[in-house]
Amino acid sequence: MIKRLLSQYLHTGMRSDYDSESNRKIFMVNLFGLVGLSITAIMSVSAFVNEQLLLASVLIFASSVYYLAHYYQKLTGNFQLASNIILYSLFALMVYLIYSGGKDNTGPLWIFMVSPVALFFGGLKRGLISISIFVVTISILMFYPDNQLLATSYTYEFKSRLIYSFLTITFLSGFYEYSRQQSFDFMQEISNKFEQMAKLDPLTQISNRRDAMDRLNYELSRVERNDTALAIILCDVDHFKKVNDQFGHDAGDKALVLLAKLFQETLRKQDIVSRWGGEEFLFILPQTSALQAQIVADKVRDKIKATSIEHNGNLFDITISMGISEINKKNTDINTAIAMADKYLYQAKSNGRDQYYPPSKSDNLTAISANA
Ligand code: GH3
Ligand code: MG
Ligand code: MG
Repeated sequence: MIKRLLSQYLHTGMRSDYDSESNRKIFMVNLFGLVGLSITAIMSVSAFVNEQLLLASVLIFASSVYYLAHYYQKLTGNFQLASNIILYSLFALMVYLIYSGGKDNTGPLWIFMVSPVALFFGGLKRGLISISIFVVTISILMFYPDNQLLATSYTYEFKSRLIYSFLTITFLSGFYEYSRQQSFDFMQEISNKFEQMAKLDPLTQISNRRDAMDRLNYELSRVERNDTALAIILCDVDHFKKVNDQFGHDAGDKALVLLAKLFQETLRKQDIVSRWGGEEFLFILPQTSALQAQIVADKVRDKIKATSIEHNGNLFDITISMGISEINKKNTDINTAIAMADKYLYQAKSNGRDQYYPPSKSDNLTAISANA
């Protein structure tokens, strides 16, 4: 029960759509808020029992600020401001403990928590800047002649050792934060690379089938929102088996790589060229009707006609067949549209290859969407 409550408290405000660094910060705000509020509350009671009323009030005030920071984050989700509230109120409390000496001059012992907390919340650069400002502030307070800026007095040895040990802890915490950030960046880089790799076809370096499906689903939401059409062209190399048989598998691979490049050069930037499988490619043409897609198909056909492939001294030509279909507000089923493009591709093959279906200026065009 207590464990569940504690876990709930510490995870307040964390969201699955946030990155891990943000969630870590939110967790830290909750954790530090809880630890800070408990310790200062206990110390406040102790100061009150010892009749140090001013210290007791300052501590109970700090305790409430820690709770408020947590509550503010829970309410608004603004963990950045909440972590600043915690950090700067911690700084203020530490400066006050140095100034007053706390209980029997033990107040300065608490300043060691400043470094890790400042680095946790601010990261390396901002953390070190705020720690430097803190060190300068407490040094002025402590080393001003005759302890005039203090409500208490410390020996020179105590003050200097306090600053030295504080700087040592800061250096170590800084180094720790630096390594943590380095390995975090490294992991991030690797994870981006794997994410990228999972979307790409290794041979042609264009989108693979899975990525194409993701993009289709994404584009579909735009079709539904903006009432625009989306055309797809399914494209298959003609008699590709012969290319492999005649010139070798490497020549076939080379042809596929070249085709992928050629498709990308011919289509617009917002269009998606993907390797659908073997020697099949799928083009996704956002904001394009099936009619407009025929113009694209013509362009692609012309480009391939003008290109010959060379492999080991052999020169050969290839042709492709294409099936075109459309997704629009009335026909939003992706699988139906793909099945239709596949059917039309087959039709183009049986009509003699090196062409697309439905052919241009055909009455069948209206049927593309109507039958879908
Ligand atoms: P059609 O005009 O009817 O499409 O004839 P086709 O020979 O192209 O069709 P088929 O489906 O019979 O053969 C496809 C060939 O594509 C067979 C397969 O070896 C070849 N292929 C598929 N993927 C690759 C690849 O990655 N590299 C190479 N070199 N060949 C591939
Ligand atoms: Mg095929
Ligand atoms: Mg083929």
